[in-house]
Amino acid sequence: MTTTYNFCAGPAMLPADVMLKAQKELINWNGLGTSVMEVSHRSKEFIALAEQAEADLRQLMHIPDNYKVLFMHGGGRAQFSNIVNNFLGDNGRALYLTSGQWSRAAVKEAKLLVGEEAIDELTIVNQDDGVKVVTLPKLIGDKNDYRFVHYCPNETVDGIEIFENLTSPWPVIADMSSTIMSREIDVSQFAVIYAGAQKNIGPSGLSLVIVHEDMLSLPSLAQSSVMDYRVAAANGSMFNTPPTFAWYLAAEVFKWLTALGGVKAIAQINCQKAQLLYQCIDENDFYVNTVAVSNRSKMNVTFQLNDDALNSKFLAQAQANGLVALKGHRVVGGMRASIYNAMPLSGVEALVTFMNAFAKQHS
Ligand code: PMP
Repeated sequence: MTTTYNFCAGPAMLPADVMLKAQKELINWNGLGTSVMEVSHRSKEFIALAEQAEADLRQLMHIPDNYKVLFMHGGGRAQFSNIVNNFLGDNGRALYLTSGQWSRAAVKEAKLLVGEEAIDELTIVNQDDGVKVVTLPKLIGDKNDYRFVHYCPNETVDGIEIFENLTSPWPVIADMSSTIMSREIDVSQFAVIYAGAQKNIGPSGLSLVIVHEDMLSLPSLAQSSVMDYRVAAANGSMFNTPPTFAWYLAAEVFKWLTALGGVKAIAQINCQKAQLLYQCIDENDFYVNTVAVSNRSKMNVTFQLNDDALNSKFLAQAQANGLVALKGHRVVGGMRASIYNAMPLSGVEALVTFMNAFAKQHS
């Protein structure tokens, strides 16, 4: 049987070892004779799971003690509104840097909640000879001008990643939905990091919010208690019933990553995978990637065939070879290979072998 490699951008593949473990203990978790889905989130077993998950995450990302780790409902978009509701009360204003689809979607949501005037937008991506390149601005101003500056270090749809740190007089909020734990970062450079779970963390329905304690004293808008970061922080993310199965799988992903050597170790593999794939694209005139080398995403590799008419054939043949979900996002078209932490090197090698053969056949 052909091995299936799933390149979906999200919900994305989860580590095979985690899935096998979950399967094994699906109906008898922790010797309880029931599934983890069927026990109280307030049981001592689940509380232990939650504490371990947080401890593992703190260790993996070197999260300082003055940050809260919240396991919230909803994905990335839920946080688009949560950051506004939690931090922009009393006529607060924010600056949004845009570099692609997701950072623009965050702006749209913010404006919906607090109006056009409260949100300033600055585009940081330019087209240089048809190649997209990000230039981080030198942000200067009075610290009271904005409550925060928001950006998206990895644009999942556009395949654009920002590797430099942003320096800013205002607290920095980053949407790390598709890059979290893929490479080492200095958490202390950020006031808030958030990420929907369904790429590098676990299944959808959950998102992680890592928030500096100081942010929790900013004025908020009237909002629902289940989405209030202060309420979540005060209640160990259990004000209401959390998505326990997603939390359990996230905890297993953290254990898997820790056993593998942590973020530093996976970052090396991620570099290797991305390099292999971009090399294949660059070496074949048949494929084109339009992102500057310095901003090429290590998680979402976008490319076009030089003949769009071959797209369906490419996807069908890839699928027949066990290489699935390579179709680009509907807004940008082309192809996209999402190669998150769970994608083994062998998956990228199989893709590259296929792409070389397909190009040869059609050039
Ligand atoms: N931000 C980024 C960077 C994303 O990739 C996504 C989803 N692909 C979102 C936000 C939205 O996430 P959700 O669909 O979970 O709301």
